[in-house]
Amino acid sequence: MIWDPQHECMEREQMQALQLQRLQQVVARVYDRVPFYRQLFDERGVRPEDVRSLADLASLPFTTKDALRENYPYGLFAVPMQQIVRLHASSGTTGKPTVVGYTRADLHTWAELVARMVTQAGVTSGDIAQITFGYGLFTGAFGLHYGLEKVGAAIVPASVGNTEKQITLMQDFGTTVLVGTPSYALHLAEVARGMGVDPVALPVRLGLFGAEAWTEEMRRELEAAWGIKATDNYGLSEIIGPGVAGECGHCPGWMHISEDHFLAEVIDPHTGQPLGLEQEGELVITTLTKEALPLIRYRTKDITVLTAQPCACGRTTLRMRKVSGRSDDMLIVSGVNVFPSQIESVLMSIEGIAPHYQIILGKKGYLDYIEVQVELTEEAFTGQFRDLEELERRIKTRLQSVLSIGPRVRLLEPHSIERSQGKARRVIDLRRP
Ligand SMILES: [Zn+2]
Repeated sequence: MIWDPQHECMEREQMQALQLQRLQQVVARVYDRVPFYRQLFDERGVRPEDVRSLADLASLPFTTKDALRENYPYGLFAVPMQQIVRLHASSGTTGKPTVVGYTRADLHTWAELVARMVTQAGVTSGDIAQITFGYGLFTGAFGLHYGLEKVGAAIVPASVGNTEKQITLMQDFGTTVLVGTPSYALHLAEVARGMGVDPVALPVRLGLFGAEAWTEEMRRELEAAWGIKATDNYGLSEIIGPGVAGECGHCPGWMHISEDHFLAEVIDPHTGQPLGLEQEGELVITTLTKEALPLIRYRTKDITVLTAQPCACGRTTLRMRKVSGRSDDMLIVSGVNVFPSQIESVLMSIEGIAPHYQIILGKKGYLDYIEVQVELTEEAFTGQFRDLEELERRIKTRLQSVLSIGPRVRLLEPHSIERSQGKARRVIDLRRP
């Protein structure tokens, strides 16, 4: 089913005309109402009336997360506070969080976009959806909540934590859709088994996973652990929250972007130059309809590819590839670029190790080293010392061929890595003082 066929299946030319009209409006609005943008545009000598085609987007300045921090909390809002009806924030690892505001119309748009996204993932009004994102300043839980409600699903607002109780709720309430981070979903499956509950036997049939980058191998793990279809979706709080893009079931690994609300580009993260379709780079989004916090060319730091290839589902919107990493997650080890997702792909493809791992970066003398710590499965743990050595050697060889550097590998007993309640902490960098 398609939630909003008028917009999701629009003719390309019509869509681009709508985007241009909305782009011109948003540029005029921010120039008029947000001093930060007026200054930025003036410095570059760009005027709103210079935007005559979608190609003129390239002449507009970027917005970075730093701009949100520097204008903390409300400096980038384009409406007076009387019109703001909701605030969310994302915690920064350093410094101030970034604050996002919504008008009533923004909340309406957000729920519509999440309704599109969950419908294309396969949710219907007959579903019972358990939300395991934390209800709070983070946009994940509330975003999914109102979109699922719009579709008519019954929502179980379980929030994060109380893992054993989550399992009991699933059993008692007959949960059919699981919403959360992929790492927490794996943890839930493990806790269920520990309680003597087979996750595959539970009525859960569909997973809506997001808020952290995950691989195809992780998808297979999740699908096997739960006996479900695991789907990915994309969003970030600065742009609106969840609901920017989602998978449709015809093309796993590719997500339809709601292009009538978000103008997407991919750029070279080093030079800032726009790249074409089918080229890998950093995703940049311009919000076309946001009232409270419109953003021009927001640098998401997420690495992806855009495609205009037609999709069998009938939607005509551009699709983005599953995010393969973040440009600022990119680890530099002895001068070599390494993405944690590359390591995850290798680990998930090897028998005998569990989907729980950590990447430790350290220094020995002046040299960087990378150590991958990974848990054994219960079955592999009972094996002979020689088998473990052989396994360790295999992991090392596979990692070396993918990363082009030789990592250390440490096998750990089952359950020895701390489980996350939200986003997993995969990388520990000991190199900084
Ligand atoms: Zn599709």
